[in-house]
Amino acid sequence: MRSYHIAVLPGDGIGPEVVAEGLKVLRRAEALFGGFRLECETLAAGARCYLKEGDPLPPHTLERAHAADAIYLGAMGDPAIRYPDGTELAPQVTIRFALDLYAGIRPARLYPGVPPVLTNRQPINFVVVRESTEGLFASMGGGSVLREETAVDTQVITRRGTERVVRAAFELARQRGGRRKVTCVDKANIFKSFAFFRRVFAEVAREYPDVEHDFGYVDAIAMKLVLAPEQFDVLVTENMFGDILSDLAAGIVGGLGMAPSADIGDAHAVFQPCHGTAPDIAGKGIANPLAAILSAAMMLAWLGERRADAALRQAGAAIERAVAEGLSRRELLGPDLGGARATPEIGARVAALLEPG
Ligand code: ATP
Repeated sequence: MRSYHIAVLPGDGIGPEVVAEGLKVLRRAEALFGGFRLECETLAAGARCYLKEGDPLPPHTLERAHAADAIYLGAMGDPAIRYPDGTELAPQVTIRFALDLYAGIRPARLYPGVPPVLTNRQPINFVVVRESTEGLFASMGGGSVLREETAVDTQVITRRGTERVVRAAFELARQRGGRRKVTCVDKANIFKSFAFFRRVFAEVAREYPDVEHDFGYVDAIAMKLVLAPEQFDVLVTENMFGDILSDLAAGIVGGLGMAPSADIGDAHAVFQPCHGTAPDIAGKGIANPLAAILSAAMMLAWLGERRADAALRQAGAAIERAVAEGLSRRELLGPDLGGARATPEIGARVAALLEPG
């Protein structure tokens, strides 16, 4: 029996509610597939942790997360709890820098059964790859305000940072085996930093002659994602653009409750829903846990690939199938998708639909 250490950081708001459902499904997958054990260790992080310990990502938590085989995160932050300068706590961003998680993988798939937002009813199935350690976020906590008149944050794009995230995007396009296309999203017509990003992208693209590539400016791509999302396979972009486009992508496939994500580096990875802590619905039992459950499936797929563990890979695929099956039967719709299912009901139903394939 192979055993894996999973660091679980439920966080704040709806984080613990959706993580509980992800764990419910993981436990069922563990029992059904056999062959692997997930040793889950719950760790403190987030806004409540900041109030208690003075640090939203305490050294002990970071140490244990660093030692883990994978990290499963809920959501963190609370608009009411801020640093003295007024900025919100963002340990879920800090951990990307701390563990060098440079590729933010944000799949957007419209599952049959989910009420479509767009009138264009083509299938939607693409991935936004967001550079997660530099770009405009490199300035996080370090910008300056001069005489309350001028504020400056600096964008940082490096060759190393760009090469590695672009390679991750091309590898993903190969692995997905779909349209095998990578789109570079930038603003190269205006900014030198983005013209550089585009040049480095083009250099890396030459290493992947079997994968098609093209380029687009972020404003035009935002419009195309709404008008013709079916034309995309993998998009790769800078941190801030990726932040925005991945929420847009979530919006066209059912909202943040349907958007899983993985932040992957060479040695570590964090899996978490794209959404934040949603204080407006926290504690009401109506959060959609599917993004968290699909993130757990991504975690098993990633670990299975990395450790050459077929049982993990199969379990990950089975979770995604169970979600697809439940949605197509309209058995997993919470209030965000026009249904009435409560958070724990959705988790339990996905667990019940799991089948070995
Ligand atoms: P952050 O800045 O931390 O990413 P945000 O400002 O993007 O957070 P979220 O907390 O992600 O805000 O959510 C925005 C709104 O979307 C919430 O207030 C909530 O109404 C809705 N929402 C988010 N996640 C879910 C979910 N899992 N289920 C149902 N509704 C959700």
